[in-house]
Amino acid sequence: EAKRRGRGIIRLFDEAMDESIRFRRKIEGGLAQAIANDELRLVYQPIVERGDLEIVAFEALLRWDSPDYGTIPTGLFIPIAEESSLIHELGDWVLTQALEMLQRWPGQYVSVNFSPRQFRRQNFVAHVVERVQHAGIAPTRLQIEITETAIFDDAERAADTLYRLRQMGFRIALDDFGTGYSSLYNIRRFSLDCLKIDKSFIDGIGRERESAAIVQSIIHLARALGLEVVAEGVETPAQVQALRIAGCSHLQGYHLSRPLEAEDAAEMAQQRYMRPEVIKLAVPRVV
Ligand code: C2E
Ligand code: MG
Ligand code: MG
Ligand code: MG
Repeated sequence: EAKRRGRGIIRLFDEAMDESIRFRRKIEGGLAQAIANDELRLVYQPIVERGDLEIVAFEALLRWDSPDYGTIPTGLFIPIAEESSLIHELGDWVLTQALEMLQRWPGQYVSVNFSPRQFRRQNFVAHVVERVQHAGIAPTRLQIEITETAIFDDAERAADTLYRLRQMGFRIALDDFGTGYSSLYNIRRFSLDCLKIDKSFIDGIGRERESAAIVQSIIHLARALGLEVVAEGVETPAQVQALRIAGCSHLQGYHLSRPLEAEDAAEMAQQRYMRPEVIKLAVPRVV
């Protein structure tokens, strides 16, 4: 009896697996044609300085409008692309587009996400340099966002890649900081400009002591290492207030602005500062 039940569970599991493999293949197949069929676009979310609300940068975020499924969540298709080599073609498209957009902004930089696989590719540095030169853009106007996973697997090599990129003037940000396995001790080995505090910690501000404490220590760490620090996923006036008090240098999130279509981003870039009334500061609150 136990044996039979066991087999049933295994079959169920197999079918679920099969479904997911089929789903993956569909996504992969669709993605392979997405560039040629013009189904991709970038949206841009402002990153602002906490004090004067200067818009210093826009993060480029990929969107895929599939004719079969509609707009597919980016967090769903990027990992699938990452597992096949499609990520290289997509990444190249993203970088080219983002660099083109820069020509329309007065001085901001663009922050582009690179997956671990892109970052670890042979000749990554040469590739990025070639793109930037081709677009006639100064390296200082491109920020490369990578996650802890991209650098901690082969720390030695990653440290070298980051060093070379930074020597050439590119900015480097460590994305989703606090969610990976980076040891604080190792952080200093990497050439970085910025830590981006993961949204999960920002969500907890004002709700749980632990999150506030973690946010505060990341900010202290960043300061001690001479790095900028961006709070990701800021959604409420209370969070803005708390982050300002905590000394977080930059803010990003729906409360400041949702990611914008290219036209709207270009318009906001011209404006240079976010209007203070968007912040709607709440009564001071101790976190
Ligand atoms: P990420 O780089 O950490 O980007 C932040 C994500 O949080 C984005 O989701 C953004 O739209 C969302 N977000 C920003 N502010 C808020 C907020 O206040 N509240 C909430 N709930 N969400 C907010 P998105 O665009 O769906 O991207 C998801 C992830 O996909 C990104 O996380 C990044 O890891 C990856 N990704 C996006 N575009 C690219 C790309 O061009 N290349 C690569 N390799 N990865 C990308
Ligand atoms: Mg300023
Ligand atoms: Mg990012
Ligand atoms: Mg992030």
